[in-house]
Amino acid sequence: MIKLTNVSKTYKTGEEALHNVSLEIPDGAFVFVVGRSGSGKTTLFRLLTKELEPSDGTLDVNGQNLRKLHSWDVPKYRRTLGVIYQDFRLLSDRNVYENIAFAQLIVGKSNREIRENVDRVIRSTGLSGKEKSLPNQLSGGEQQRVAIARALVNDPDILLADEPTGNLDHQNATEIMNLLLAINERGTTVVVITHDRSIVQRMHKRVIEIADGSIVSDHPGPDEEQAYMLDLPLSPAHTRAAAPQPVETSQPDKEQKTDVAVEKSASVTSLAAETTIEKTSEIEGQSPLEAKPVETKPTASAKSGLRSRARAPHSHQIHGQEALASSRADGQDTSGTVTTEQEATK
Ligand code: ADP
Ligand code: MG
Repeated sequence: MIKLTNVSKTYKTGEEALHNVSLEIPDGAFVFVVGRSGSGKTTLFRLLTKELEPSDGTLDVNGQNLRKLHSWDVPKYRRTLGVIYQDFRLLSDRNVYENIAFAQLIVGKSNREIRENVDRVIRSTGLSGKEKSLPNQLSGGEQQRVAIARALVNDPDILLADEPTGNLDHQNATEIMNLLLAINERGTTVVVITHDRSIVQRMHKRVIEIADGSIVSDHPGPDEEQAYMLDLPLSPAHTRAAAPQPVETSQPDKEQKTDVAVEKSASVTSLAAETTIEKTSEIEGQSPLEAKPVETKPTASAKSGLRSRARAPHSHQIHGQEALASSRADGQDTSGTVTTEQEATK
């Protein structure tokens, strides 16, 4: 569970990037955080990774108050997170295998564990055969898959992605989103920051919109909505209490951008249904992206043994490679640097 309570962040420059933000993201959720460039999305991301400290309010992640986390416990905390960035951030002089193995080396795994775990994530991200390639020998989509594999190899509870498709074409962006959905289906909480509205609109997931540092809307995905209406059983990660009802916060002098809210159009496709994979029984030699669509049915997850969620049926089917509409109209966002601010230690 990620819980922010009245979180504000003002940078040293006086810029208030977040103002009084409160939200809850239950375990196992898939959530989009959307908003224009400069709205505060990356600031939220960096508060969650504890690269930044809030000026006010509290952040709790898995019951841990981040403010009370000792500096020597921060690396351990960060290992519960997988992080993905727009610009991949791979080691350019290491091959695919080494880039992924590096994340395991620094947590002191044995060679055997490293080999097993790296092989497993290479298969599940569809990178088999690319182990020896250097990043510059890969396409953008492949590089992002390496970054995802690296984020997954330590088996994080939460995957945080800051504009993960920002440098990708539509085809690759779709594949990366499918992969993130498949990872979520195994039980990992996934938070995706994006301003790619076309992707958000077709994904049927909760959408939190930030504008000028405040949450201006919070729409549950139709999956969750339908489940309430039909009173379908939900896993603990999708309890009625935890999932939000649509909230519109009026911002008198700001233009509302409710068009990013999930649309219930019949043309909206459910990507989740086609990429269901099992954590413990990946299809040998087949990446989740190559795997045949799995029928929409309750998905058992191995992550916690708890998720056996009944999906509300979608009447619409996958429209093959339905072209994503033009996106990234807001221009590229390059503010997601890893540098920990001096502020974080002040
Ligand atoms: P987004 O990711 O939505 O584009 P950011 O969180 O990067 O937004 O930025 C929110 C606001 O905070 C912007 O006005 C930005 O200029 C400002 N900002 C971001 N990082 C810093 C920083 N390190 N120092 C000062 N201001 C910053
Ligand atoms: Mg950003």
